[in-house]
Amino acid sequence: MYEQAPARTDVGAGLVVSPNAVRLLRGLGQLDRFRERAVPLQVGWEFRRWEDGRVLFSQNLGEACERRFGEHSYVAHRADLLAAVRAAVPEAALRLGTRLAGLRRLDEAVELTFTDGTREVAHVVVGADGVHTTVGRYVTEAGSPRFSGICAWRCLVPAENAPEFARHPVQTLWLGPERHLVHYPISAGTQINIVAFGPAYDWTTESWSTEGRIEDLRAEFAGWADDLRALLAAAERTGRWALLDRDPLPRWTNGPVALLGDAAHPMFPFFAQGAAQAMEDAAVLAACLADQPEDPSAALRRYEDIRHPRATRVQRMSRGRAESNHLPDGPAQQARDASFSSADPFAQSGWIYGHDAERSVREALAAG
Ligand SMILES: Cc1cc2nc3c(=O)[nH]c(=O)nc-3n(C[C@H](O)[C@H](O)[C@H](O)COP(=O)(O)OP(=O)(O)OC[C@H]3O[C@@H](n4cnc5c(N)ncnc54)[C@H](O)[C@@H]3O)c2cc1C
Repeated sequence: MYEQAPARTDVGAGLVVSPNAVRLLRGLGQLDRFRERAVPLQVGWEFRRWEDGRVLFSQNLGEACERRFGEHSYVAHRADLLAAVRAAVPEAALRLGTRLAGLRRLDEAVELTFTDGTREVAHVVVGADGVHTTVGRYVTEAGSPRFSGICAWRCLVPAENAPEFARHPVQTLWLGPERHLVHYPISAGTQINIVAFGPAYDWTTESWSTEGRIEDLRAEFAGWADDLRALLAAAERTGRWALLDRDPLPRWTNGPVALLGDAAHPMFPFFAQGAAQAMEDAAVLAACLADQPEDPSAALRRYEDIRHPRATRVQRMSRGRAESNHLPDGPAQQARDASFSSADPFAQSGWIYGHDAERSVREALAAG
């Protein structure tokens, strides 16, 4: 593994780790470590109306989630998820501070060139290098992703400074015209993670570490409910970045080179599935390579065949949420809110949360 970052950092926000990802952490033997700081969503999800905080819908995710999907849902700091995954990687397998510059196909292998001038030859290359993938240029000519017109804001608030309602183990989503905001506690309940989405205007910086202005964020939500504004008043700093959008790629592999995670299928975070889908990719890829070690190109094609339809479906659904989460007040918004009371989002997203990537690949490989 070659990682450009010189060291592991705590860059990034909180994220939801849904049962389909939790199952894979258990398989890695890292679930106990992850649970030390991850917060289980006992109470569940809550959707609120922007103007007055009225609860449009709430769902208990505690026991019901485990009963239906075999695992809990958690919310966690990205660094805590990374630490759990990292613990499963042998020290010698990771080279930090090593940035890939390009690839070149040799007869039976691939040559990797790094920005420090070093080279390596590999028989299989997996590009898990994110939305700005370098490896991707070798796999597809689809070009760069485009700006979506939406930007994300991210704040972390010490729990003791946050209003009481925000400390509950609930993933709360406030929906309003052109904007929505999500908050939940992370880091063993010591911090409240806030992620807000709204118009990007002319903001095109796309980086986890870029700071925005907290007063700009507060201004975006100026007319919203008092509770929500009280939470934003407790935030002192905010990250801000433009969300990128990309149509599903037609292919993720080219001979012995494959893409994985955001490099293959960057998605809007509105189903909170990007990292989970990357983990599913990894589980399937590992099983395919283990099944056909003598023909890695064929193994990578199997991986793509198994994973492409599912990840593409999640990618498309996440994009659809951009519209429904941001409806202006009116008949369409009223119909959306009314549908919350009759819908069972658990049933609707059972195909996401109930999925067992390791079992599905075993079955696919056994079927030939
Ligand atoms: C606001 C927001 C909220 C989100 N919430 C959730 C959520 O709740 N749940 C969820 O599952 N997902 C969520 N996601 C999505 C999730 O963050 C991504 O899908 C996930 O990080 C993708 O992981 P990845 O490893 O594919 O890519 P990345 O996390 O982008 O990692 C790529 C890695 O490759 C390295 N790299 C890049 N180029 C090179 C190079 N040339 N050489 C060497 N190293 C390189 C980078 O340094 C980086 O470490 C969210 C995303 C956003 C923006």
